[in-house]
Order: sequence, then structure tokens, then C-alpha cells
Amino acid sequence: MTELAVLLLDVAPAATEEPADGWASTVRTVAPDATVLRVTDLAATRGDGVFETLGVIAGHPQQVEAHLARFAHSAAMLDLDEPHLGQWRAAIAEAAALLPVDRQGGLKLVLSRGVEGLGVGTGWITASVADGDFAERETGLRVVTLERGYDSGIARRAPWLLAGAKTLSYAVNMAAQREAMRRGADDAVFVSSDGYVLEAPTSTVILRFGDRIVTPRTDIGILPGTSQLSVFAFAQARGLATEEALVPVPDLVAADGVWLVSSVRLAAPVVAVDGEPIPHDVEFTRELNEALLARQV
Ligand code: PLP
Repeated sequence: MTELAVLLLDVAPAATEEPADGWASTVRTVAPDATVLRVTDLAATRGDGVFETLGVIAGHPQQVEAHLARFAHSAAMLDLDEPHLGQWRAAIAEAAALLPVDRQGGLKLVLSRGVEGLGVGTGWITASVADGDFAERETGLRVVTLERGYDSGIARRAPWLLAGAKTLSYAVNMAAQREAMRRGADDAVFVSSDGYVLEAPTSTVILRFGDRIVTPRTDIGILPGTSQLSVFAFAQARGLATEEALVPVPDLVAADGVWLVSSVRLAAPVVAVDGEPIPHDVEFTRELNEALLARQV
């Protein structure tokens, strides 16, 4: 992704009235190389904050309300002040309008706990255009399973570990992707210590078994995916059953198809798991991505 602009928000408490001159007056657009973040911001020093990444297709930001709901949920899990969704909604529209309509792009929303000692959150949005051609949507991904070190009960037992929140602390997720590459794969799938499929470092796992489309249940400490919602809607429109379930790891190779899905990547079929080739339905994947690209919400 290449950043085109950064929008800085004067983060408003959730109860704030919209200013008379509109939310735009609380948002400032700067060049992507502008120096804007204080080195004592807790985003930089502790990864203490939350983020969202939205896809933008033909100038249209996708699944805005689902992303905003998850943003607010992640913020609540970190005890951050509730973001004012009206302000963020307005800033998203402004940021999306900066992207070229003939390219796929993305918006990254960030809300940190703010500069140490100030007690005010720092918020910004980066607007970026995609550099690549998303060939993986056709060619597929080789994945390796990597342990995350927690069992599937961790989110219920230990909410302070923030499993299932989209926090700025993604160093572990990035390390898992590098480990996958070291092992000759393209991406990783995290698995729990009690043997269930969790999620990929930046994507949700979707599996197909005949007429059934399945994704891992989110109460096992994984992020509820917004793309997964669209995949389920696509599947239901084709008469397929959809289900959130506990997915034992061997199901990754037993399934009729496996995909990694996320907001900018969309649906990439998995073609091998831990070196073992698995089937992938080129036509189904193509139709799924066409549906995802055509979304109007
Ligand atoms: N799981 C994790 C850990 C993620 O970071 C992401 C997105 O970045 C996803 C799943 C997929 O979420 P979405 O479909 O909302 O992009």
C-alpha cells in the first residue's frame, strides 16, 4: 500500500455535539510524510491503542458500520474513551474521497491512548492505494499452522490478554507471517493449544464442507471479521448453510476449500496447509471476490 494522505482528528468524546461548522472542522489533512506523532504517544511507546483497516473500492469505503462497531468494541476492551462514531464516520468519508476511483485502496483508522500524561486520545486515518494486483486471489496461498500458545478458553478466562481486540500490538502477528515465509509458505494460521483453528495474523479463516460454509467461533479469542460477514451473506444467497463453529485443526486439510479473507485482501484461497496440497475451487473464489468487490455497504 502507498499512503496518499493522513487525516488527523481532534478526538472528540462520544457525547460531543457535532460542531456548527461540521465534523470536518475537527479533521486536518496532511501529507503522508508529515511529522505528526509525538514520540511519547502511547501508540509508539506501548502499542496501546486500537485500529481498523477498511477496504475502499471505486472510492467507496466498505462495511463502514461493521468496522466502526468493531473499533468501538476494541476501544472498550482496552478501556479507551468511547470513540465518537459520527466524527470517525465523517473522517472516513473525507479520507475515501482522497483515493482514486480506479484503484483499490484502504483506510487505516488508529486511536491510541494518546501522549503519555495528557489523557486525550490520538486519532488518525491513513488513506492508501494498493500497489499490487492481488494475484493471490487467483493463485492462492500456502499456509503453515503456527501455535499461538493459548487454549480456546483464553478470552473468557483472561480478558486482559485482549484476545479478539484489534490492538496496535501486532508485532506477534507480523512475526508469525515472517516465520511462515521462513518455512516456505505465504501466510500463517494460528491454532490453539487445545487443537482448534483460530485465525490468520491479518485474516479470518473460512472453510467449505459440501454445502456448508464454516468459520471459527469468535468466543475463542479471535477477531470477529467484517469480510466474513460478507462471505456468509454471499454463501446464504447461494443457498449454502453458514456456521460459526469450533474447527479442529485436521479440518484444514479435510475441507473442500479454505480461504483467508480480510478487508483489503478479500478472499484468497488456501492451496496448501503445512506442505500438503488442498483443493481449491477457482470459479467459486472468482465469484466470491466479484461479490466482495461489488459491495455497496
Ligand atoms: N483477524 C485478524 C487478526 C485481523 O487482523 C483481521 C484484519 O486485519 C481479520 C481477522 C479480518 O478482518 P476483516 O475481514 O474485518 O478485515
